[in-house]
Amino acid sequence: MAGQLEGRVALVTGASRGIGYYLARQLAAEGAHVVAVARTVGGLEELDDEIRAAGGSATLVPLDLSDMGGIDRLGGIIFERWKRLDALVLNAGALGILAPIGHIEAKVFDKTMTLNVDATWRLIRSVDPLLRQSDAGRAVFLSSGAAHSCKAFWGLYAATKAAGEAMIRSWANETENLPLRVNSVNPGATRTAMRALAMPGEDPDTLPRPSDVAAKILPLLLPTVTETGQLFDVRQDRFLRYRTPE
Ligand code: NDP
Repeated sequence: MAGQLEGRVALVTGASRGIGYYLARQLAAEGAHVVAVARTVGGLEELDDEIRAAGGSATLVPLDLSDMGGIDRLGGIIFERWKRLDALVLNAGALGILAPIGHIEAKVFDKTMTLNVDATWRLIRSVDPLLRQSDAGRAVFLSSGAAHSCKAFWGLYAATKAAGEAMIRSWANETENLPLRVNSVNPGATRTAMRALAMPGEDPDTLPRPSDVAAKILPLLLPTVTETGQLFDVRQDRFLRYRTPE
């Protein structure tokens, strides 16, 4: 049976491990050609091996997303090769540091903002025209419950995810009359390197596997999705409604 994304092109950031790795595999299994971005070549090559073994195809892009010029060039290359983009997964992210807001080193703050916020915006800017060329463009931003809970010591990470969600909501409002659908996702605590960094004492076996979390996110990238500008909660397996002030 043909996959639901046969002939389509999907860009996944942070595809070398964790949630992005499995989403990339699952998108390829649905027939999408995956453009996989991350810094770690070994992780990307492992992904490529898995995708090929399953009969799919990928293009590997070893890129540090703090290189804004690199993001601009990536958009240009996708345009030259495919003239459009069907799915964008804004997944790459960093925790930064868990610390009192007034104690965060400026260089850690700037680095985390650059990856989680600046690169997210720059990618949107780079590929928005390409997603508009698709008859069913889809984008998801990997957010976090931290954007809303704003727990003590999570201020830096929370601020970056709140910024990402705000950009996604505005982008959705700008494009609501187009076929493009863009949403944020809260994956919930997931068994990955980032979670282990945040919660070193936690038993990873108590957490959902990234492959299972990715499988819940995948439907948001299919042509069948109709929601836009919403937050999908993986744990609850449903969209949550934002409350918009009058
Ligand atoms: P991981 O730390 O396992 O993976 C992060 C990915 O981002 C890696 O592929 C990494 O690749 C890539 N990345 C990091 N920095 C850069 C960079 N400078 N340039 C390019 N790529 C980069 O994270 P998770 O899979 O856990 O998280 C995925 C997303 O989900 C993140 O946005 C995270 O904030 C969010 N999230 C995760 C939760 C969890 O419990 N795991 C909970 C809530 C949200 P490389 O190092 O090779 O560059």
